[in-house]
Amino acid sequence: MVRKMIDPTDVRLDDVVKMRKPHACGGFEWQVVRLGTDIGMTCLNCGRKVYLPRSRFAKRVKTFISRGPEAPPVVRG
Ligand SMILES: [Zn+2]
Repeated sequence: MVRKMIDPTDVRLDDVVKMRKPHACGGFEWQVVRLGTDIGMTCLNCGRKVYLPRSRFAKRVKTFISRGPEAPPVVRG
């Protein structure tokens, strides 16, 4: 069975994701709260916040539960 990973470059603010393994509190669902080199996310079960490098984030996430809004196109000038 192929272990399909999410695309770590396709992560949006407010995405809700399901992890492969439970948090220490037993929760599987996290909401993305910060995008950068590291992705910040909050556990929806206990409210704890963690930061993960994108590569580790992609390995740990099983699937998207819901997607945040698409980033608006950057308009210059
Ligand atoms: Zn938790």
